[in-house]
Amino acid sequence: MKNIATKCVQAGYKPKNGEPRVAPIVQSTTFYYETPEEMSDLFDLKKSGYFYTRLGNPTMGYLEEKVAALEGGVGAMATASGMSAILIAVTNLCEAGDNFLSMSTIYGGTYNLFNVTLRKLGIECRFFGGEATEAEIEALIDSKTKLIFIETLANPAMLVPDFARIAAVAQKHGIVLMADSTLTTPVICRPIEHGVNIVVHSSTKYLDGHAASVGGIIVDDGKFPYLGNPRYPRFNEPDASYHGMVFAKDAGAAAYITRARVIGMRDFGAQMAPMNAWLTMKGIETLHLRMPRHSSNALAVARMLKGHPAVEWVKYAGLPGDANFDKVQKYFDGGMASGMVTFGIKGGREAAARFQKALRLFAIVTHIADCRSCVLHPASTTHRQLSDTDLIAAGISDNLVRLSVGIEGESDILEDLLNALEESQK
Ligand SMILES: *Cc1c(COP(=O)(O)O)cnc(C)c1O
Repeated sequence: MKNIATKCVQAGYKPKNGEPRVAPIVQSTTFYYETPEEMSDLFDLKKSGYFYTRLGNPTMGYLEEKVAALEGGVGAMATASGMSAILIAVTNLCEAGDNFLSMSTIYGGTYNLFNVTLRKLGIECRFFGGEATEAEIEALIDSKTKLIFIETLANPAMLVPDFARIAAVAQKHGIVLMADSTLTTPVICRPIEHGVNIVVHSSTKYLDGHAASVGGIIVDDGKFPYLGNPRYPRFNEPDASYHGMVFAKDAGAAAYITRARVIGMRDFGAQMAPMNAWLTMKGIETLHLRMPRHSSNALAVARMLKGHPAVEWVKYAGLPGDANFDKVQKYFDGGMASGMVTFGIKGGREAAARFQKALRLFAIVTHIADCRSCVLHPASTTHRQLSDTDLIAAGISDNLVRLSVGIEGESDILEDLLNALEESQK
């Protein structure tokens, strides 16, 4: 199974003789064993199997296998949301006194987690701009730096990072590189192929794709050398809270994802529900059909906006002439740049409000990546907790309108936008 389309449809659940063709929803908190010894072996990780749904469940397991196969990773762990995926992914490497680096143009929720909440817990995030040079990024690194965080396509700044440059810095210093690939999905970009070690997703977005379930997932590339790496004592010293396990030695290539589960998920308890895992798998079965359609519809929208008199600027990485166009050709499959388009509307906040009210097909929702088109004005919604300086750092202006272009018919989408743009200027 090499083709990404085949993996979307078939990877993960494999029925045995007489079993249901479609993955079952195992709606059970616990699992039964005949002897106490079997149960103890599971707790000791001597045997693999399910015993309590917080730590794993067959339905989540099928989704985890599917996404690990799509990303080319050694293992994955499903979580309750994208935010809990990022929280567990980062704290699996960092504790109080540690620091990590992050691109500054990231999703607003992640920005707050990094800049406020983790800081209060003693974990310091050091931000760098999208255009930072290798030397500028290196200047932020010290012996307590545990990871570098990027978004494959920054939401909503629409910036594509230079993977090769950032991966070179991470490799030179032996630091884990982590990427949030929510907006690209493995159909467009597989970050592990570009030197990323840990991939995180908000599966709420394109993986589900139907605005039906909130969820997240963490994928481990299984290649990062934790063993003997002085930067990561917690992977090399016996863990008193888990039977003295030495993760880099005892869990081998799956050290990171094993620790994320038996420590991170054990203690934070942000597991995905079986029903949501099932809905997410349903979504992924058509991901390879949806992403090209989202991308081509969004490109048509970006082209239209580019020449429109009510539009000050357009950002769409797949648009020829965009600052990120060359990186799309280099890192994203088939020149696809996903379904998000941002633009600056003439007339600022008031025009943005008139524009949104006049739309018929595009719904005003705090969501993206739905198969249905939707619209949002970040400065008055998702990013309203940010100060003006933080807004600029996150790449957001008050006239920025964010479109998440769906998979409806292109001509209907364009007609709706053209009409609303006209109304916005009245
Ligand atoms: C939505 C989103 C998140 C947060 O995910 P939730 O599932 O809403 O918790 C994280 N990163 C990106 C890029 C997102 O778009």
